[in-house]
Amino acid sequence: MPLIVQKYGGTSVGSVERIKAVAERVRRAAARGDRVAVVVSAMAGETNRLFALARELGELPDPRETDVLVATGEQVSAALLAIRLNALGCPAVSFLAHQLKLATDSHHGRAKIKSIDRDQVMSAIELGNIAVVAGFQGVDERGDITTLGRGASDLTAVALAAALKADVCEIYTDVDGVFTADPNLCPTARKLARITYDEMLELAGLGAKVLQSRSVELARRYQVPLVVRSSFNDAEGTWVVQADQAMEDVLVSGVTLDQNQSKITLAGVEDRPGLAARIFVPIAEAGITVDMIIQNASADGRTDVTFTLGKDDSRRALDLVKRVAAEIGAQGVRHEEQVAKVSIVGIGMRSHAGVAAKMFQVLAAERINIEMIATSEIKVSVVVSSRYGELATRALHDAFVGGAAAPGANA
Ligand code: ADP
Ligand code: ASP
Ligand code: MG
Repeated sequence: MPLIVQKYGGTSVGSVERIKAVAERVRRAAARGDRVAVVVSAMAGETNRLFALARELGELPDPRETDVLVATGEQVSAALLAIRLNALGCPAVSFLAHQLKLATDSHHGRAKIKSIDRDQVMSAIELGNIAVVAGFQGVDERGDITTLGRGASDLTAVALAAALKADVCEIYTDVDGVFTADPNLCPTARKLARITYDEMLELAGLGAKVLQSRSVELARRYQVPLVVRSSFNDAEGTWVVQADQAMEDVLVSGVTLDQNQSKITLAGVEDRPGLAARIFVPIAEAGITVDMIIQNASADGRTDVTFTLGKDDSRRALDLVKRVAAEIGAQGVRHEEQVAKVSIVGIGMRSHAGVAAKMFQVLAAERINIEMIATSEIKVSVVVSSRYGELATRALHDAFVGGAAAPGANA
């Protein structure tokens, strides 16, 4: 009998009606003869509500207690779905992280999974139950509750699928699959029938939140068959797969927009060995991830160093940078929150020249100023002013993916 892991996101379990619909879908899978484990997110908006509550009571709320709080959202959903399944005559048992023994390190809010004990879930399933697992949460060595990062119920699902050696991991969400751009932003975006793990990893890392990036990484490492589908209809979704030759021919498979960016510049830094380390080591030691970095050619022995990072970390990074700037005699520190990162992604870029140049032409035609540029083997990213983020996304989508049917698209 096939074993499937189904994951339902916040909107999919966002109301009593939605939970009834999800239970019905799970019941159908069980009636087909599949053995089923389900992973659920908190009901839509709940995790944000809980974070906001914590912030009302403490400007930088204690990380351990914040995890105790925000992990409750998933507990509620798991219990509600199990209650509904049992009411439908479909035996179901909920599992929280401590019951699943989903062991993590102790980095609250961004804990890494160390192991999962498959035995308890497996025996519940073998006894004819649906296992309903609370996503997003883990337990550390001390037995403290941790969480795996925003959007990380996807990661719970893929990790569980890998541990159970499931035949497929189905990610159910509020769109029909992975699109060439966020369909809620770009009306001409089209659903892809297939996308490679590498491209999906880039898209996820660049802001396409349809799949959380660590979940894609894990799926690639353990070769978990992964499909993204809608919980609102029965349309075919998008399969995340290994690359094949036909896919290499597609130049750009997706365009992403990340509005959660900020930019910090140290102006007039002396141009001598060791200063980049002086700036970035304290930031790394604070656990802050920096994204793009540029250093201008020096004039008069001084240079500007600019970098981008997520908005959530910008306050802490700014404090550190101001301290270093004073120590190294930099001429000033500038900080900008109104920036966005727009990227194009496609494995075809490996073998095609001129993609970046075309991207710059498209932005120039829209009179959008490019503030920073970064490239990798299969992507080009630019930083632009936030207010042009959506316009840039649509213009690039239309130029690279366009109105003609994209290879790999269903439509
Ligand atoms: P869930 O709550 O089910 O985990 P998310 O909100 O995390 O759902 O992810 C789904 C959302 O991802 C969609 O509503 C869509 O707006 C957004 N999204 C961004 N980029 C893409 C893309 N390329 N394809 C599909 N959806 C995308
Ligand atoms: N509820 C968590 C969040 O909102 C995890 C998830 O939805 O995947 O980030
Ligand atoms: Mg999500």
